[in-house]
Amino acid sequence: MTEQSRIDIRSVTKLYGAVRAVNDVDLTIDGGAYCCMIGPSGCGKTTLLRMIAGHETPTSGTISIGGEDMTTVRTGSRGTALMFQNYALFPHLSLTDNVAFSLRVNGVAASERRDKAREMLDRVQLLHLADRVPSELSGGQQQRVALARALITNPKVLLLDEPLSALDEFLRLRMRVELKRLQNQLGITFIHVTHTQPEAIALADQVVVMDHGVVEQAASPRTIYNRPHSPYVARFMGGQNVLTGTVQSAGAEGTVVESKDGNLYDLPPIEGAKPGDTANFSVRRDRIQISDTKGDGRNCTEGTVVNIEYQGTFVKLALETGTREEFIVYLDDDAYYAAPKAVGDKVHASWAPKVNHILVGANNSTGTPYED
Ligand code: ADP
Ligand code: MG
Repeated sequence: MTEQSRIDIRSVTKLYGAVRAVNDVDLTIDGGAYCCMIGPSGCGKTTLLRMIAGHETPTSGTISIGGEDMTTVRTGSRGTALMFQNYALFPHLSLTDNVAFSLRVNGVAASERRDKAREMLDRVQLLHLADRVPSELSGGQQQRVALARALITNPKVLLLDEPLSALDEFLRLRMRVELKRLQNQLGITFIHVTHTQPEAIALADQVVVMDHGVVEQAASPRTIYNRPHSPYVARFMGGQNVLTGTVQSAGAEGTVVESKDGNLYDLPPIEGAKPGDTANFSVRRDRIQISDTKGDGRNCTEGTVVNIEYQGTFVKLALETGTREEFIVYLDDDAYYAAPKAVGDKVHASWAPKVNHILVGANNSTGTPYED
């Protein structure tokens, strides 16, 4: 299954008039992978998904599935199924008939249609409601019907556009587990568009982070979170502080960067870096200690506590450090309550040199969602 359901997107661009919805995207999605595409509203996720499904044609570039060029192959013939955001169920049809719909269109005999639809409803645990109509179901159940309806065509690739966004928090978490279980059982490629970071991290084998029509980074969730490629990815995925400084010395043994306030940071070697260059790096929020006393001025920052939030498993401290962004520290709750802070306190935050992670690319994106 895996080779047959690999997706190769090569130099794909989609223009809507002057809008570059998708801009020269190169991306490989492994067959059988659970891929999550994430990015702010308007960054091109739906457009890319619709091109994979064949509901849109790229302005330029190619899309192959299982090594076969599908760029202009019609929707029903490329082995993909798209589950719509609004489910688009037929209100007057029973669940069985909703799920069997595409088989009817393809001329499959009534009894076979019915058996297959019931098998699919069983897969999503709705067989006992097979004769109901959609309005007699909860939101979560309607969504499972939409899923069964997409899966009945035996797709190699299932495309899901923000499938969980209409559900409440509780259902969303439950459905997320079910989607993963289903993908495991079926062994097909899932491409799931979301704008919720924890959802992408929890579900995906491969996370694709998009911004303004381009893929900023495509990697495992752990790499995306722990080793973001750029300031944009670091900010968008969260969990990191983005810092900037000027290279003081650079060599094979490492790079020393100085921040505006005169602190020094020990970074790994940066290829081609020379004194005077600007360097961006990130520091994980949960790898930082705070103290009341100043250290040696390396791998640290000073700030004033501006906000304290208890988060259950940790405490989130926001520091004002004189840069345009707050510096965030996640502290173990036991450690924090052994020496609690108050808003207005001055503290010193420090971390091990190995926590410094080099970022590439411009540091001009805020990573906050843009206008719809
Ligand atoms: P996302 O799903 O990430 O929110 P979309 O793929 O829907 O983003 O949209 C990407 C960009 O393309 C947006 O600027 C959007 O306004 C534009 N766009 C999407 N579909 C169309 C269309 N059919 N006609 C014109 N512009 C479109
Ligand atoms: Mg969208």
